[in-house]
Amino acid sequence: MTHKILVLPGDGIGPEIVAEAAKVLECLRQEHGLDAVLEYGLLGGCAVDELGAPYPEETRRQAHAADAILLGAVGGPRWEQIDRPLRPERGLLAIRADLELFANLRPALLYPQLAAASALKPEIVAGLDILIVRELNGDIYFGQPRGIRTLDSGEREGFNTMRYSEPEIERIARVAFEAARKRHRKLCSVDKANVLEASELWREVVGRVAREYPDVTLSHLYVDNAAMQLVRAPKQFDVIVTGNLFGDILSDCAAMLTGSIGMLPSASLDRQGKGLYEPIHGSAPDIAGKGVANPLATILSAAMLLRYSLNQPQLAGRIEEAVGRVLDRGLRTLDITASGMTPVGTQAMGDAVVAALME
Ligand code: NAD
Repeated sequence: MTHKILVLPGDGIGPEIVAEAAKVLECLRQEHGLDAVLEYGLLGGCAVDELGAPYPEETRRQAHAADAILLGAVGGPRWEQIDRPLRPERGLLAIRADLELFANLRPALLYPQLAAASALKPEIVAGLDILIVRELNGDIYFGQPRGIRTLDSGEREGFNTMRYSEPEIERIARVAFEAARKRHRKLCSVDKANVLEASELWREVVGRVAREYPDVTLSHLYVDNAAMQLVRAPKQFDVIVTGNLFGDILSDCAAMLTGSIGMLPSASLDRQGKGLYEPIHGSAPDIAGKGVANPLATILSAAMLLRYSLNQPQLAGRIEEAVGRVLDRGLRTLDITASGMTPVGTQAMGDAVVAALME
């Protein structure tokens, strides 16, 4: 069956980095038997400009028909002043909600060649390979009631509701246990069960699901301790599962351990394994159009797409190995360059990965 991949370049550096990932997929199609077609669509600011909405109906239709989606990034100063519902980031929230992408997978992997790029000592981070599984559809970001109200005293109060149902916890826990099974079989669940009832239930349900996975070792950490451990001794972790709010913060912290956001891919999956794949960084308007953006996070997002949605782990592995070889040879874009190295541009980096794939 020919797989349909919807490509959404988006805004800023999005089109530049996605073009390189598309080259890589095209090479796999021509040389390594990938059976897929790429279709292009609009999401974010470019969609507002052309079709009047950040997640237009046409894109919605394409997204539902696709087996997997590859996104660049959305947003930029051009759209910061427009009405809130039209802002590019709303398009991203809308597509995630529409496709019920509830499981966000964010690997934080430090290529040994880049150990010096981390703010931490190389011996603490060298060989780091963590997967953070963040719940994406629930928690305080979506809980009702929420708002800003005026009290009888005349003072205003902002309020949100942290909320998790048992089925929501169960389904994300299963994704995390399954992921741990494909790695080193260690799962750490992060919560704040000493203070929050929502977390108390989280811990209980994750513990119950664990009985179905006796081959995976489960541990629990409070989020404050988890943040500390991530910086103190990050290599103790294999897979971390946590809620939307804690995951938002911890995954950025883990990303920084690796030194460059230009290297990190992500996946957001639905129940059937269909997913939206994107680099964790934004549209980088400060470097857009200059041809200097690092395309590797997007290329590695394409590898995740092959692994998780198209069930092609060998092809995914080929991309990851090709990226490793390119780094071995000393190729670096500006964001990961070290002193004494001449940085290469976006296209040259993409071409080098394609060349490594052909070896
Ligand atoms: P950003 O991630 O776009 O940029 C932060 C810094 O990292 C910048 O200096 C940028 O030049 C650099 N950078 C990012 N990606 C890079 C790459 N591939 N190669 C080299 N350097 C890279 O974050 P920001 O500046 O806070 O946000 C810019 C815009 O992106 C905003 O409109 C924001 O809303 C949007 N945004 C979108 C997403 C998304 O589409 N998922 C995520 C975050 C931010």
